[in-house]
Amino acid sequence: MIRVLEPYIADKIAAGEVTERPLSVVKELVENSIDAGASEIIVEIRHGGKTYLRVTDNGSGIPADEVETAFLRHATGKISTLADLGRIESLGFRGEALASIAAVSRVTVYTRTEEEPLGVKLLLHGGTKVGGETAGVNKGTTMVVEDLFYNTPARRKFLKSDAAEASAVIELLQHLAVYYANIAFRLINNGQTVLSTTGNGNVLMTIKTLYPSFHDLLKIEGPIEDGTHTSKVRGYVSGPGETLSTRRGQLFFVNGRIVSSKIIEKGIKKGYGDRVFSGHPIAILFLNVPPESIDVNIHPTKREIKFLDEKAIESGVAAAVGSILPLTEAIPKAPTAQETPWTGEQVALSLEEEPLPADPVVQEEELPIREYLARIERRHEGVDKVSQDINRASDENDIINISSQDPARKTVLLPEPEHRPFDFSHLIIRGYVFRTYIITESEGTLYIIDQHAAHERILYEKMIHRYNERTHVPQPLLVPFEIEVSSDIYHGERSFLEDLRAFGYDIEDFGVNTFRIRGIPEDMEPGEAERFLRSFLNEAGSEDSVRGPVLAKWIMRSCKAAVKGNDDLSEEEQRALLKELSSCRNPFSCPHGRPVFIRISRGEVERAFKR
Ligand code: ADP
Ligand code: MG
Repeated sequence: MIRVLEPYIADKIAAGEVTERPLSVVKELVENSIDAGASEIIVEIRHGGKTYLRVTDNGSGIPADEVETAFLRHATGKISTLADLGRIESLGFRGEALASIAAVSRVTVYTRTEEEPLGVKLLLHGGTKVGGETAGVNKGTTMVVEDLFYNTPARRKFLKSDAAEASAVIELLQHLAVYYANIAFRLINNGQTVLSTTGNGNVLMTIKTLYPSFHDLLKIEGPIEDGTHTSKVRGYVSGPGETLSTRRGQLFFVNGRIVSSKIIEKGIKKGYGDRVFSGHPIAILFLNVPPESIDVNIHPTKREIKFLDEKAIESGVAAAVGSILPLTEAIPKAPTAQETPWTGEQVALSLEEEPLPADPVVQEEELPIREYLARIERRHEGVDKVSQDINRASDENDIINISSQDPARKTVLLPEPEHRPFDFSHLIIRGYVFRTYIITESEGTLYIIDQHAAHERILYEKMIHRYNERTHVPQPLLVPFEIEVSSDIYHGERSFLEDLRAFGYDIEDFGVNTFRIRGIPEDMEPGEAERFLRSFLNEAGSEDSVRGPVLAKWIMRSCKAAVKGNDDLSEEEQRALLKELSSCRNPFSCPHGRPVFIRISRGEVERAFKR
């Protein structure tokens, strides 16, 4: 029974305008459909939902004599007393969504309940009824919202482009479809179905349908205990090596509500610990907590949630995430203090944290070899600029700017390293170990080169060069390949297409969430080109407006993805790698800041052998 809330209850509920953009309208309407017990929901939008937006469900329908009431402010069938407010579990409960949507658009409703032989069609313009009749319609409800903000032009101006509004709606539907895997969702954008799920209840299958690029997800489950109650977290996460540069792969649902939460993010971070070298792992988490342990009085259009016991949530999430880690391979870690003290990163760190003892010699007898070497390295600091440059391996090394003088022609700037310490042609290859490291010698010094870091650096500079030049002709592929992306990427702004063409990809729309690639950047291996592309699409695809400084980061991460794999290099290939490396502007660290070289002087080796 839909009734208007008593004013004192209405006032208790956070007031807030729910209608901001097509996204918020779709959210309210779909939530009503879910609350109405629908097992099938179809959403259709045109022009990003600005001109036309429809939500059709097969739920309970609205009784004919209550349809008009439903559009009154504070009219709701869901709560009537203050006590209800405390334990409300349905999605919408403020009773203001329909009123607020109707006030700024032209709404047509078609609805029928199971019991009634005929349904109702009702028309409202700007919240005022302009027509109503009985109508033979299917059981359930269809809400059509046209010309959003037609009577409030100021608000219409704040809307983004059609593609950006559409992509926000698509993302919302992806989230809802994941959570409500038992509901079949379909989304039609400008006449084309862009997303459709079976509603068979299989969450993992639904995730894979919606996000074809999320691979190898692991199931997690665990308790959250805060002393008073035990709640639960479950969900799917990626291994620590499968990360994205944005949090687009992190979806959190608390009691069915899509939320953003710094606390849950912190828990995930803590759970992975130092296994994650860079980026954000994929984590689709479902938390069930007692309603009294969260603040329900949150703003209707904001996604933030307030947990009353934040520590409990954080450690519960961390424990659940952490439980899968023994099952996964850790990604190669950045050098750490304990493991490789003679790399520059470590040395630089210890320099800052712990000054040299006044007379280090006195203590040297007691020191483990690595610490010993680290101290020698420190003592050489200032004397040996070469080692500094090799060793200064940090992310800060590669602060990259997009030149903004000519916004139409962005370029990525690569900073020059401070020193070009030695001529690479003097490096003599002495060996190759663990199918990864090239052992070289030059003028009494041993240099160990990490083939993957080197490769990453070379590719990174090449991609940036190609991007800046924009004159490179794609290398045609005999067999073109296709890449399927998720709907939000396919139907989003697509500025990544321009970037990819600047790199030298010949890429075209192939319909139904798919792009076809007919050419790749010159002198790139097809496999490498494909891995780069997949990663780049994932990174760049969903970003709509925040272009700019992040571009370099996407290139960086995509290069990392591209060079994966253990290739056994022949001596000729090793030589070619060194040659290419020597023409890099900054050959000393991979774009992520891991060192490409480790340098050990003859003296250091001798001291290590206590000669
Ligand atoms: P709230 O959802 O907060 O109760 P709304 O303004 O969103 O307020 O909706 C008002 C009422 O209209 C709901 O409480 C519900 O009874 C009814 N209603 C709205 N949409 C639907 C729908 N799709 N199916 C059945 N009933 C609906
Ligand atoms: Mg509602």
